[in-house]
This record gives sequence, structure tokens and C-alpha cells, in this order.
Amino acid sequence: MGARFKRTKILATVGPATNGYEQIEAMVRAGANGFRLNFSHATYESAAELISLIRRASDATGKPVAILQDLQGPKIRLGNLATDPLNVTAGQSLVLDYDTSSDSEALPVQYNLAPKVRPGQPLYLFDGKVRTTIEAVENDTAIRVRVENDGVLMSRKGINLPETDFGGDIITEKDLADIEWGAHQDIDYVALSFVQTADDIRSLRELLKAKGSTARIIAKVETKAAIENGTLEEIVRTSDGVMVARGDLAVEVGAEVVPIMQRKIIALCRKYGKLSIVATQMMASMVENPEPTRAEVGDVANAVILGADTVMLSDETAMGKYPLETVTAMKKVVLYTQENAPPAPISDVLNGENTQRTAIGAAAVKLAEDLQVDAIVAETKSGATARDIAAFRPNLPIVSVTSEPRAAQQLALIYANKSFIRPDGETAGLELARELKESNYFETDQPVKVVIVSGRQPGVIGATDTIRVRVLE
Ligand code: PGA
Ligand code: MN
Repeated sequence: MGARFKRTKILATVGPATNGYEQIEAMVRAGANGFRLNFSHATYESAAELISLIRRASDATGKPVAILQDLQGPKIRLGNLATDPLNVTAGQSLVLDYDTSSDSEALPVQYNLAPKVRPGQPLYLFDGKVRTTIEAVENDTAIRVRVENDGVLMSRKGINLPETDFGGDIITEKDLADIEWGAHQDIDYVALSFVQTADDIRSLRELLKAKGSTARIIAKVETKAAIENGTLEEIVRTSDGVMVARGDLAVEVGAEVVPIMQRKIIALCRKYGKLSIVATQMMASMVENPEPTRAEVGDVANAVILGADTVMLSDETAMGKYPLETVTAMKKVVLYTQENAPPAPISDVLNGENTQRTAIGAAAVKLAEDLQVDAIVAETKSGATARDIAAFRPNLPIVSVTSEPRAAQQLALIYANKSFIRPDGETAGLELARELKESNYFETDQPVKVVIVSGRQPGVIGATDTIRVRVLE
């Protein structure tokens, strides 16, 4: 029945291994639906170049593709160490100083921790490999920590502070500049790292609005504060989507907590009709090897079974030896799993904004599955109608038609969606269905049956009110 495509989408991080046109186009052809630009590393010049390469590849393949700007947030790193690598031993004291001009004994750190931390709080270095406890705030820029275990440190490695409250002030000067820059670029999503509360998302929304950005917001859940009961649900409701940022989350709260949290976050996203992204180390061994491990295959399959919208690749595509093989392997797992263990349906989707649209989404999916149609066609302006259908996780394609490239690109990461950019019109959905039948998109000579969801005022946001069944001979 119909075209076989991934209902769970793939978001690939671009990096040195893949920052040329050929690699990007090849990744789109292999199954990448979106690209993440990591602003912990990007320069504006290189990011602008990548955006134009990605749009070119999207045009060449005829596939709308999402671009995600990943803001660094308060990602704290060591500076360049005088001794690198540096061995440290349990019981030793270290001074971390933001002001690198002061004490030559101190280790440089790229963020001023002195006003934020309190003695007794844990501070983890190098992705948790060296654990320390804050002993004292030395002065306006320096803190002293006690090393808890023997280990080694290297320049620019990350620092995690799971107990430290950043006081609603997580958007850094660098993030502000990056937001300002991104607002004038062709960017579909902005992700914020180290979100602590829903207020961080509200602040980002204000900033994006003030700058005239049309990007939607992804909260990266990777702190202890964000997964507090109540806080997590509020973050989900306030954001447009959530990334289960398993790398830092594991360091902050313990690796054993992450799988359960992943399940909880995906369930909350489904409940509120928000985009869910599962990130980090999904196929990590493919940085070095052409084949995934059994465990990695299981990890991707699990995300599909839970009903994640999107699975993400990080180092695998940014700096791995086998970026294309990784996208291809991931796609194979998604396809096999969705056919054999589709996500369990849920009935309680409540995005709370427009209950009529949500109810229509539920009804359209029920009708489409009962009648075993070839696709649900969604006429959508902002993308909301298509998202509300996707929230019910239909086991068949949602073909969305919009006149807005931004909406089509944003929908590229949404479950079961395939977007097409066409002019608004009374019969845009039906015309698209006919066009797809003509081009044998449904891969059948038989009549094609579709459910069309639309509004009587085409091109008007929030006016979805009609479900029709059509058979195309
Ligand atoms: P990062 O975020 O790759 O930007 O650190 C994802 C994660 O922490 O898992
Ligand atoms: Mn992270």
C-alpha cells in the first residue's frame, strides 16, 4: 500500500565530515530530513554557506528539509590548558578562573561560575569523567574545587553543574548574538541547550519574536532541573518541541535515568502534540565502523516503537568515517520497525490551543485507518493541521500541502509527514493527490483512496473544519 517512507524522521548534524554540497545532497537522498548546525562550533560565515548548500540540495531532490540552529546555551567548557592532557588525583584542589590574565596556576574556564555556584555543589569535568565538589568561591571570577577521583583533563572539555541554579539566566551573550544572526537566516528551528525551566523558553520566544524570526523552538532537556516533576511538563507545553539530549542528561542525572526519561518525554510530547527528538550516540560506533552494533539498532528501534518524531545523529555524521552508511542504516531500522511494531495509539492528545483542530485530527486518522486509505492529505497554512493529525500517529502517510516554505520545512521533522509546497486554493489537496497519483507516488495501478483534511477558507490559519474521502480512479 502506497509509497514506503520513514514515519520517524532523521536529523543529521553537519560537521567537518559532511560540510560539502555533495555529502549534503547524498545525505538527503539517503534519508536525512533535517540538518542540525551546532553553534558551539559554527562561524556565521560557514553556517550561512551550509544553509545555502542545504537549500540547494533540497531543491535538487525536491524534498523540503528542516534546518535547526542549536544554540550553545550555558555549555561551560575549560579553556586551553597549559599542561594538556593534565593528570589530576583524588583529594587535589583546583582553581577554575574565568579571568585568564590573573593566576597562572588556575585552569581557564570559558564562563564565569563565581556568581552562580555554592560550596558543596558538584562540578563534573570532561563529560563526568572527573568529579569534583565546589569548595569555595575565591573571588569575582575564580572558584576552588576538590577532585573526587583520579583522572585526566584536556583543553576545552565540557563542565556540568547538575545542582547549580542559573537563575533564569541561561541565554548567554553568544546566544543573543547567534539568535540575532539566525533571525535573518533561512532557519526552521532554534534549539536551546541546558534549559532549566519553562521561563528559559519564554525568554527565547520573546527574543525570537522581537527579532522577527519564524523559527519554532526546541527545548533540549539535559539538566537535572528540567526533569523535575511539573517543570518537565511545563517545558513541553511551552516549547514547540523537545530534544531528549541524552549526552549531557546522562552526565547530569545518571545514565540509568535516561531511558525512562526518554519514554516520559516522548509520551508528554505526544500528549501535547509537540515534536520529539531523540539525540546522541544512537549509532555512535559508526563514527569508526561501517556497521552499527546490535545495541544501537535496538536503541533506534525503541525510539520508533515509542513514537518519536525524529531520531538524531551527532558525531556520526558530523565527524564520523561513515556518515552516509549511518543514515542508510538508521533508515533501514526505522522502516522495518514501523512496519512491524508501530507506536501504540493514544487518545488523549490535548494541545490546548484549538480543540476543534485536534478533534478533526483524531477523526481523520480513525477514518483513514478504518477505510485503509493510501494517505491522509492535509491542507495546512502554518503546519498546525498536519501536526495535529501526526499527533495521533497514523500508520500511513500524511501528505501535507502548504503555500509556506517555512511550514513545509518545519513539517519535514514531523511524524509520518511528507510536505509539498503548492499555491493556496479551494482544491489544493485534491489536486496534489491527483498529481501524486499521476506520478505513481502511491506505487499502484488501482484507484487511490485519500482522506482530505481542509478548511473552507483556504490559506486561513486555524480554519480547519472539513474531512472528505476521495477515490481517484
Ligand atoms: P549537544 O546536545 O550534542 O549539543 O551536547 C545533545 C546532548 O547533550 O545529548
Ligand atoms: Mn548537550
